[in-house]
Amino acid sequence: MAKSPYIRGELGEALDVMKQIKKALDPNNILNPGKMGFDDSIKDIYENFAFKPLIERPAEIQSFGQALDNEIMACIMCGFCRAGCPTYGETSLESINARGRVILAYHLLTGRLEPSKELAERFYKCTTCLNCNAVCPAGVKVADIIQAGRVRLVRAGYLPPVDQMLMASIERDGNPFGEAREKRTEIYPTEFKPKEKAPTLLYFGCVASYQDLNIVPSALKIMKEAHVDFTSLGSKEYCCGYIDFLVGVRKNSKVVSTRMSGFSKTWGSRKL
Ligand code: SF4
Ligand code: SF4
Repeated sequence: MAKSPYIRGELGEALDVMKQIKKALDPNNILNPGKMGFDDSIKDIYENFAFKPLIERPAEIQSFGQALDNEIMACIMCGFCRAGCPTYGETSLESINARGRVILAYHLLTGRLEPSKELAERFYKCTTCLNCNAVCPAGVKVADIIQAGRVRLVRAGYLPPVDQMLMASIERDGNPFGEAREKRTEIYPTEFKPKEKAPTLLYFGCVASYQDLNIVPSALKIMKEAHVDFTSLGSKEYCCGYIDFLVGVRKNSKVVSTRMSGFSKTWGSRKL
């Protein structure tokens, strides 16, 4: 869009033909407005650029905070983020791509959209893989925008059931896998007994304690070889909170939600 004023210089009279075709197919100019070059630069820029609703309806703005609002506004809608977005690759749906999610966040920002089950479907299918951050030419931190959207969805009662189960498991068992607290130390070698006090505390985390069972014995071996005086929390160790962070649960968030019944359990052709 920034280069639109120069499009006539590049295409000449062909631009008029293209505009006629566009007008025949899209008489109300609702498809990609502004992309066919600006005839009246000031008016067209104002009509088509993203800040118009923010200027015209400031009372409706639902800010995410200045830093994130700037991230949302920095998206130039180029669509490069389609390349490699696993959720777009699986669904071919723009609203399940990074750009689509930024647009949805933009409409949350302008106050045109309210949190809803449909919106939650779009935001929670993001894997937060960060591929979009790597390919975005504008350096937009898409995953941060999605996280902020999730926080808003959780506060409005739209945490998906599968994430509600994870939160319940963390609260009950201290881990997201539904494993018993006491099992956390089963991976400790018999010669290792956590001491009451030590200058260094080694935190293993849930994956190392319950799933990737090579990590704890290897870490203990390294600590021994390095002659570090350390201890661990044993069965008192608790989830680090990363999952809460990922799904948008924050302090004082209302976790249990009844507003997500019927949340889609399918993922393209796969079951979630
Ligand atoms: S690549 Fe970046 S700037 Fe382009 S549409 Fe995606 S998020 Fe927006
Ligand atoms: S972080 Fe989300 S939006 Fe970005 S590429 Fe990964 S799945 Fe797609």
